[in-house]
Amino acid sequence: MSLNLYNTMTRQKEEFQPRKKDHVSMYVCGPTTYNYFHVGNARMLVVFDMVRRYFLYKGYAVQFVQNFTDVDDKIIQRAQESAEEAQALGQRFIDEYFKDAQALNIMPASVHPKATEHIPEMIEIIQGLIGKGMAYQVDGDVYYEVGKFASYGKLSGRKPEDLQTRARVESDERKRSPLDFALWKKAKPGEPFWDSPWGQGRPGWHIECSAMSLKYLGPGFDIHGGGADLVFPHHENEIAQTEGYLEGQTCACYWMHNAFLTVEQEKMSKSAGNFFTVREILESFPGEVIRFYLLGTHYRSPLDFGREKLEMAQRGLRRLRTSLQLANEVLRQGVGAAEELTAQSQKLIEEAQKARKDFAEAMDDDFNSALAYAALFNLAKVINAAVNGEPQATTGLQTACETLRELGSVLGFDLEKSVSPEEDDAQRSLVDDVMGVLLQVRVKIRENKDWALADQIRDSLKDIGILLEDTPQGVRWKMK
Ligand code: AMP
Ligand code: ZN
Repeated sequence: MSLNLYNTMTRQKEEFQPRKKDHVSMYVCGPTTYNYFHVGNARMLVVFDMVRRYFLYKGYAVQFVQNFTDVDDKIIQRAQESAEEAQALGQRFIDEYFKDAQALNIMPASVHPKATEHIPEMIEIIQGLIGKGMAYQVDGDVYYEVGKFASYGKLSGRKPEDLQTRARVESDERKRSPLDFALWKKAKPGEPFWDSPWGQGRPGWHIECSAMSLKYLGPGFDIHGGGADLVFPHHENEIAQTEGYLEGQTCACYWMHNAFLTVEQEKMSKSAGNFFTVREILESFPGEVIRFYLLGTHYRSPLDFGREKLEMAQRGLRRLRTSLQLANEVLRQGVGAAEELTAQSQKLIEEAQKARKDFAEAMDDDFNSALAYAALFNLAKVINAAVNGEPQATTGLQTACETLRELGSVLGFDLEKSVSPEEDDAQRSLVDDVMGVLLQVRVKIRENKDWALADQIRDSLKDIGILLEDTPQGVRWKMK
């Protein structure tokens, strides 16, 4: 079945046609490493991990490149504040990245290039651009001359004339146009620097992604991804650099951008200070719950952050796991029972096939993971009904469970994992609280001498396995 994805470049969904049959090459702009990554960054990371996993499920080999921006104004500033070397600070947060990424079940990229290890490649492209008359040097800085790239603005849909009016306000007089951007920055005292044909300095941000995507994926690779904030200027500039340098060849064929994770409708960001790191959230919720929450909304729709949303995700994930757990118990009891393909079994197999089809249709339609969840929940419902009904359907139940497990794993979830002890604790304390309320109500009922209703509560609880005991301290409850 064909897969359609929304291409920011053409502003429409397009059928995915790989550059090389059965292969997908992807480049995703990774984090700037001066802090733990926040839940907004995690949305981008989890979304592209899901995209990658779905391609793998469809049988593609995926070459997945995700960089680390480990040289940047903010890293330098943070390092100066903490009297640490900028590169050491960058490396420290790269190490921390892998811990949190693992907790979210994000696969390591095929390559994780670091900007600081690709300075010669960047210098080569900058030299090429100067040679073609598309960049110029001023006093140790090098700028890209935007006016020389005819299709500048094609990704973001912005017109250079409009941009120019806005950019003029804060423009640097040494630039030929306010839109021109830095490819190389002369070193200021105390900053990290590298030698270059223009003196000691460091690269601008945009050039690193041109250099690293070209090095690892070559021209015209399949998919370039990142958060929506990168469309302009980062990706627009990357296209100008790469395509200016390659003269006529394409940088990437499809551009995918995830919408923002927001806090009270504002983008979550380090600079706004309204962020929660994944490390913090992991103290209250397991990584898979955070992941489940992040994929519960289509990647191009905004997603608001909140504790209650994480709790909802926790309950959703728990529902899927509980279905499998209960079905496994039934299957264990039925082991060895020879079974012909009963009508119930046949029906379950058909339901499993339907879930697989619905799942694929959702994912083939621009990776609609939210709709794919619906296929999982429907299948879990079917499994529950089979478990609670007559267990005359071992083969069918087995197929349904395998399908649920497999589709869950395509989205990066291990649904077989039993509900965690922390979740069990939370559930137990909820039951405690509810029973407390019920027993207080029953005391009032007895005070009003409504013995029949009080007895009915006692009997109904007994039916579901809860026994009430009279003690000198009042009524207690226990499980049968
Ligand atoms: P940064 O570390 O800010 O350079 O961001 C790393 C990646 O996370 C980029 O691809 C950003 O577009 C993405 N990103 C940053 N903030 C958010 C957010 N609030 N929601 C979704 N993606 C984001
Ligand atoms: Zn980038």
